[in-house]
Amino acid sequence: MRILVLGGDGYLGWPTALHLSDCGHEVAVADNFARRGYDHEMGVQSLVPIEPLQQRVDAWREVSGKDIAVYCGDLVDGEFTVHMIREFQPDTIVHFAEQRAAPYSMIDRKHAVYTQHNNVVGNLNVLFAIEEVNPDIHLVKLGTMGEYGTPNIDIEEGWLEVTHKGRTDRVLYPKKPGSFYHLSKVHDSHNIEFACRIWGLRATDLNQGVVYGQETPQTERDPRLATRFDYDAIFGTVLNRFVIQAVLGHPLTVYGSGSQTRGLIDIRDTVECIRLAAENPAESGEFRVFNQMTESFSVGEIAKVVANGYDGAVDVEHLDNPRVEQAEHYYNVVHTGLVELGLQPHLLSNTLIDSLFQVAEAHKHRVDLAAMRPTVQWRTASSPMRDQG
Ligand code: NAD
Repeated sequence: MRILVLGGDGYLGWPTALHLSDCGHEVAVADNFARRGYDHEMGVQSLVPIEPLQQRVDAWREVSGKDIAVYCGDLVDGEFTVHMIREFQPDTIVHFAEQRAAPYSMIDRKHAVYTQHNNVVGNLNVLFAIEEVNPDIHLVKLGTMGEYGTPNIDIEEGWLEVTHKGRTDRVLYPKKPGSFYHLSKVHDSHNIEFACRIWGLRATDLNQGVVYGQETPQTERDPRLATRFDYDAIFGTVLNRFVIQAVLGHPLTVYGSGSQTRGLIDIRDTVECIRLAAENPAESGEFRVFNQMTESFSVGEIAKVVANGYDGAVDVEHLDNPRVEQAEHYYNVVHTGLVELGLQPHLLSNTLIDSLFQVAEAHKHRVDLAAMRPTVQWRTASSPMRDQG
């Protein structure tokens, strides 16, 4: 297959491009390097050094003998997007290319507007380009489990059968997202479902849980192939951040009581889910949704797993929750679609945590301690980006 990976310079896009290339697909990546720009804006960097995209691609050619084409440009530029798709002629487009940090979208008006403009307009340009170039292209779009929030009923895979006053219909599952970023994903889902319904496009929306891990069999083949590892309070996802705090001998910062529960997934399963979705496309006109997560944990449980796995003393510090989210809630998620396609999940294990501790240990001199304290407050419309103290 010819597969175009949008956001191919990012944490997940890069290892996914390598996995797909390794599996024999013809791969191209596109990126505008916005993610590297946020690092400059916030004065932080990936814990693990990452090479410029061109050097990554050269290293992959050296290691594997395979080529990955590169498109540098912004999806918000509709002309660029349509030109790229016309030129590469993909069978599948995997769309990772969005601003993905909830705290970043909650900093202030500028960051909220940027996030929704970047994500919603970029996604619309992709939909229009597919319709114009070849409506048969399968769009595999990254959504998030955060679109659903924490409803008091089971979370189904995207759709819900409702019986109301004696009549029954299948409707999009109602969403209750928790940030302007998560809202942008809800808007995307609606736009994609609409495009499938009116133009007959085929799409898979992957509502992904929080990803952990930093290595895949492909990135391990050469240090130049490493993907990013974020630990700061804005871009660092919870388990990765806890691992670094443990290695530094700092308390694990649990927001609120820690009983809020989330779906998680290992990075090695993320890249495999994308392959499975790409190789088993949705039908023409179908808006297919999978919940791309393998396990649920409360934040307190994640802290315990990290503390128990670490060979040293680890404290937990409960901070006032900067977010507005339910502490005690029901959480039961259906996530059978990808398993039915063949996913064999890696569940959170000590081996994985051990390898993460090693990665963190090797690079701990690069940690900026101030960047780990949460500064963005959900309850106010304007927050500082980082601790000035
Ligand atoms: P990331 O920020 O590391 O990667 C996204 C990439 O897209 C970056 O390289 C960025 O430069 C690029 N990009 C952003 N806007 C662009 C634009 N307008 N044009 C071209 N390129 C653009 O993020 P990630 O962690 O790899 O996440 C990838 C996707 O997966 C996102 O859509 C995210 O919402 C989703 N997701 C991630 C997680 C997670 O835990 N990391 C969880 C759920 C969903």
